Amino acid sequence: MGITIVCRAVALWMLGVALGGAHARAPVAIAVHGGAGTIDRSSMSAEKREQIELALTRALRNAHSVLSSGGSSLDAVTTAVVLLEDSPHFNAGKGAVFNAEGRNELDAAIMEGHSRRAGAVAALTRVRNPIRAARAVMEASPHVFMIGAGAEQFAREQGLDMVSPGYFRTNERWRQFQEARREAESDRKADAPRPEAASDYYGTVGAVALDQHGHLAAATSTGGMIMKRYGRVGDVPVIGGGTWADDRCAVSATGWGEFFIRSAAAHEICARVRLAGASIGDAAAGVVLNDIPAMGGNGGVIAIDAAGTIAMPFSSAGMYRGTIDADGEITISIWADGE
Ligand code: ASP
Repeated sequence: MGITIVCRAVALWMLGVALGGAHARAPVAIAVHGGAGTIDRSSMSAEKREQIELALTRALRNAHSVLSSGGSSLDAVTTAVVLLEDSPHFNAGKGAVFNAEGRNELDAAIMEGHSRRAGAVAALTRVRNPIRAARAVMEASPHVFMIGAGAEQFAREQGLDMVSPGYFRTNERWRQFQEARREAESDRKADAPRPEAASDYYGTVGAVALDQHGHLAAATSTGGMIMKRYGRVGDVPVIGGGTWADDRCAVSATGWGEFFIRSAAAHEICARVRLAGASIGDAAAGVVLNDIPAMGGNGGVIAIDAAGTIAMPFSSAGMYRGTIDADGEITISIWADGE
């Protein structure tokens, strides 16, 4: 019997080789980001850089193995974002920035391209992985967007992992918050995020993916902008603002959220691909490098099209990012020169 199984396996493998083996499968691709901003090369220790690159690599590899074993782009982007939320190095889940009251309020969204299903959550304080809550809203409720206490009650009912608000705090973020608060107080601008300080602290995480079925998905998760006012919601959970997927294009954004909302950035990029026939590279660059800076904002996106072509423009000094492209090649970079 054992021999029969082995013979069957060999026959199937030979059939696979005869049909082109791995080359017969549709290409899969994944990109992740860990936020855009003023990422100062000289002040980043080698150890910190290594930890960030490791976290990005781990998210990419795990998501890629979902895709290469035939899993959906939706599962791949969820896998990547959960891992990045659990890492303390990014402004999402553990390690999120503090708002003006010294609390963490988390936003997230997920979207599946071919079905246009979407789920989003905002102002969460107790759900360990906000991206799982966004996905639960999409899959287990008739709604798209849930906020605050109601969203948390729903997450609890769905059996998601709940934590005390202190779980999200890291000493590094707390120090950043104290510094930002001191600066804001001395500027007497404590009521609003300070533009010049804001770009120091982006760090949202996101993923976009193409699966073997040719389906695209996008997911984004964030603590928002440091010193944001109570109740402020950024672009990340606004479907079409910081997160979007259709059957030709998927986008996850990071940057000064108000500008991404006002330019419907993620949707705008995909609309240029779908309606104007633009390449993913031109569409993403047009919005991120022209439109948003022209309005006074900055930031970046990761974007992917149905062929697995990836674009990752940003107008800030750096953006933590990584890809495993359709040829299986992995890249991780932080600054514009590809370093
Ligand atoms: N886009 C996020 C927001 O405005 C911030 C970030 O990218 O880090 O909430």
